[in-house]
Amino acid sequence: MFTNTFSGRIARVRAEMAARDVDVLLLSTGPDLPWLIGYEAMGLERLTMFVLPLEGDPHLVIPRLETARVAERPDVYCVVPWDETDNPIAIVADLAGNARRAAVGNHTLSMFTIRLLDQMAGVRFVNGSEVVGPLRAVKTPDEIEALRNAAHAADRVIGRIQSGELNIVGRTEAEVSAEVGQHLVDEGHHHMNFGIVAAGENAASPHHHPGSTVITPGRSVLFDIGGTMYTDDGVGYCSDITRNVWLGTPDAEYLDMYAVLLEAQQAQVEAAVVGATCESVDRVGRQILTDANLGQYFMHRTGHGIGVEAHEDPYLVEGNETPLTAGHAFSIEPGVYIEGKFGARIEDIVVAADAGPDVLAQSDHALAVLDV
Ligand code: ZN
Ligand code: ZN
Repeated sequence: MFTNTFSGRIARVRAEMAARDVDVLLLSTGPDLPWLIGYEAMGLERLTMFVLPLEGDPHLVIPRLETARVAERPDVYCVVPWDETDNPIAIVADLAGNARRAAVGNHTLSMFTIRLLDQMAGVRFVNGSEVVGPLRAVKTPDEIEALRNAAHAADRVIGRIQSGELNIVGRTEAEVSAEVGQHLVDEGHHHMNFGIVAAGENAASPHHHPGSTVITPGRSVLFDIGGTMYTDDGVGYCSDITRNVWLGTPDAEYLDMYAVLLEAQQAQVEAAVVGATCESVDRVGRQILTDANLGQYFMHRTGHGIGVEAHEDPYLVEGNETPLTAGHAFSIEPGVYIEGKFGARIEDIVVAADAGPDVLAQSDHALAVLDV
């Protein structure tokens, strides 16, 4: 299984390298490496670097004390441990051979990149995301299933919130957020990436940090939750969903706003067909909100790609003329944020598919009105 997943990805990356005239790919910290070989480098002062030449054996250069954490995958890479007195930069440069153009992962710490630039003088360096990014953005059927599993796990947690099973009244946002994180883990996530719990006017801040606000009746609560779930191959895929509840009898102005927001979100999901540009999907929802005089309160882009990273290409934003391709996975999450009053956002993860938009989240989109 490992062989198929990672050898296949390496072959596709090499084809992309050849097309972009890149002789060697150098990956260190960040999500490209676990996606490519199933190993995640620690952000240490000691260098870990995967060296993938266009031809020849791939090598994983790693501090000797880290080798115990590395799975033996001789069919995918050779491990090159370095000792405390070795110069790992020289080892990487040596393995890169007579490369003319090197692509470096865009999460590589600059303290290493700068030394590589010195050591490999004369080599032209380009951004590794040019090579790996387009491949990561278009998901394989296995990756779509991994994202679906994570989405369904998050759905089950949202279901407990919407049904009132999760007790939120009288507790702080931070306490509820911590419990949501535990539920995400119980449902199969390795960890929570974020657990936004925003009560009342706190939801007017899209990335509100859950804090000491006590959740009381007579207001909305926004939940934007997500985590990372690992596949059998050891690669983590992310979930991300936003839903809203109201405690007690909803405010009429909020209900009116919510109806428009839901209409906008659903229209955007329907518009996310193969061939539509990213910006066209953004415009669909923005127009509906603007027609209802709510456009000025939707201050962020419509969505982001999702995969091994919670936010990655493609971004659904004005100016992005990239057409959606079957396999693109992304969020559709319009919101309305009125400072000092309230905020709401509705978010699904959608995969563009030839048969039409594939909505991974199954949770009810309606405002969940809870008796208190
Ligand atoms: Zn979200
Ligand atoms: Zn999101």
